[in-house]
Amino acid sequence: MKSIDNGKFVVRKLKHNGFKAFFVGGCVRDYLLKEEVNDIDITTDATPNEVMRLFNKAVPTGLKYGTVTVVHEHNKIEVTTFRLDGNYSDFRRPDEVELTNLETIDVKRRDFTVNGLLMDENYKVYDYVGGMEDLNNKVIRAIGNPNERFNEDALRMLRAIYFESKLGFEIEKETLEAIKENASKIKLLPNERVMTEMQKALTGKHQNEAIKSLYRSDLYKYLPGLEKGIEFIYKNINQNISVEVFYSLCFYLNGKVDTKWKFSNIDKNKYQKVLELLEKGKEFNYFTLYDYGIEINVLANLVLYYLGETDNKIKDIRYKFETMPLRSLTDLKVRGNDILKLTDKKRGAWLNKILNELAFKVLNGELKNDKKSLLKYCEAYLNEE
Ligand code: ATP
Ligand code: MG
Repeated sequence: MKSIDNGKFVVRKLKHNGFKAFFVGGCVRDYLLKEEVNDIDITTDATPNEVMRLFNKAVPTGLKYGTVTVVHEHNKIEVTTFRLDGNYSDFRRPDEVELTNLETIDVKRRDFTVNGLLMDENYKVYDYVGGMEDLNNKVIRAIGNPNERFNEDALRMLRAIYFESKLGFEIEKETLEAIKENASKIKLLPNERVMTEMQKALTGKHQNEAIKSLYRSDLYKYLPGLEKGIEFIYKNINQNISVEVFYSLCFYLNGKVDTKWKFSNIDKNKYQKVLELLEKGKEFNYFTLYDYGIEINVLANLVLYYLGETDNKIKDIRYKFETMPLRSLTDLKVRGNDILKLTDKKRGAWLNKILNELAFKVLNGELKNDKKSLLKYCEAYLNEE
């Protein structure tokens, strides 16, 4: 587990060399909440060049924004020079940044008060944004004018949702109102960025509240193909669901998988198969298991279950999967070659047809999956032709 202590060395060294240095952002917040610390961010008045010179292993990972990554005992510690952000013309990143030697200015460019706390190497907290009070009251509040802050960087709106999911904090009223006002701007963000924040929000401990906030904040209107699903969850579901069930349910209510989402081919295929299976019917049996596999069957059942259309039949589906006589053609006790020996016919489409027919009859119980019975059936079949 990472600890803020892994970064003390960097803070100490910077200070020893006459610079100011503080822990900042998520690591301070999570340390104070006694939560696991993710990544360690340090903010300093040393310029990126000065940071590079001071540490043996330092990588210029974001020079444009004043960030250098210091590598120390397998830990990567991001050191960013105090800065204020210039204009934002793309609703995401400042066009240019200006370095400053004041930490009080740096914290003002940060997104939420609980992410704007500074802490020194002796765990003393410096709060210039009202973050301590919000941390104690479990509130997510934009630093400064929320409307301006979301207008600068639209991703912050989704970050608010993510922090709600991760921390279980409530988004403060004016901050929520400002998200409503600016919600449509998330359309301007690259889909990959939206997806990453969604993924983070969907895997938080407080996922259900976060999904409900997507509805309350109107953000859901600009998440293509997810609108109906999020509305349904807001109105009907009071528990966390898996990420796969979330997308399957949303796309089922949407009628199709929205291709604007840049899923991996595996995930895209998964959601398409769930929809395809649900179109065929609401029964899950040997045949659907044979055609789609266990994962798709379970997902399809869970979608119907959360929609209130069926019981949760996962146990039953798993049992069927365990006991089914055949899961794929390769489980069949005869091979194509065995069948070819019974006839002078050359290999061709007919062979696949008969193999599939054998599988079908084994699944519905007409035939036993043993070589003798299967070959006997084949012989009769070939003689009939
Ligand atoms: P996590 O636990 O997910 O790492 P975090 O708060 O550390 O949460 P990071 O994305 O690691 O989030 O960012 C580190 C800090 O940088 C934040 O706490 C915040 O102070 C600042 N920050 C990050 N992204 C933004 C943004 N889009 N706008 C303003 N400040 C930001
Ligand atoms: Mg972080």
